[in-house]
Amino acid sequence: MKIVVDTHTHTVSSGHAYSTVQENAKEAYTNGIHMINISDHGSAMKGAPFLYYFGNLEVIPDSLYGVRIIHGVELNIMDYNGTVDLPERYLKKLGLVLASFHDICIEPSTVENHTNGAVEILKNPYIDILAHPGNPQFQIDIEKVVKTAKEYNKLIELNNHSFVVRKGSERNCFEIARMCKKYGVRVATGSDAHISFNIGRFDNVMKILEEVEMPEELVVTTSVERMESYLSERKKRIE
Ligand SMILES: [Zn+2]
Ligand SMILES: [Zn+2]
Repeated sequence: MKIVVDTHTHTVSSGHAYSTVQENAKEAYTNGIHMINISDHGSAMKGAPFLYYFGNLEVIPDSLYGVRIIHGVELNIMDYNGTVDLPERYLKKLGLVLASFHDICIEPSTVENHTNGAVEILKNPYIDILAHPGNPQFQIDIEKVVKTAKEYNKLIELNNHSFVVRKGSERNCFEIARMCKKYGVRVATGSDAHISFNIGRFDNVMKILEEVEMPEELVVTTSVERMESYLSERKKRIE
């Protein structure tokens, strides 16, 4: 199995990442990645871009150095009722929308609340991917969340960066992958790169996929066609 799409990357616009769109695209090309989602943080995070940034993403070409560019975002989940930090009129225009819990935007709570929040996020037609759901700081009821993703045809992220920055994620990530396999839920793979050199680095994600013997057809990032097919599914859903 080879991953050729990176659905989670950051640029300087995030405020705490260090490479440009061009540098990311070049590095993607070098690392054998055919498609990247630019998913800078939503506006509620300090240092993250203001709304206009998301409204102007269309100035970025759809392809750079032979790498397809998706114009996306990593939203901040702001409460446990499904509130996020970009209005719908912006989300409508984006190509791929991630949402995640960050403790600088939302206070960690109970497993019940985290699960509720994640479920509400997956019900939102404009949101495609629950990002780094393995974070033990925001422990979820994994089976319930994965079943919700199945019901709403959404994607669950396997995040390569989690093993490093979100301590204790490893066990959760394996369990999430196992549940996705069990229920036939598709997964996306994100490097969560905050500098170009990490674009397309999936060593930890590959370990998980191999360990659980994930069927390739459940990993939407293993071919551009698979990813394209999900992207048109999104378009139809929000029409
Ligand atoms: Zn970040
Ligand atoms: Zn994140």
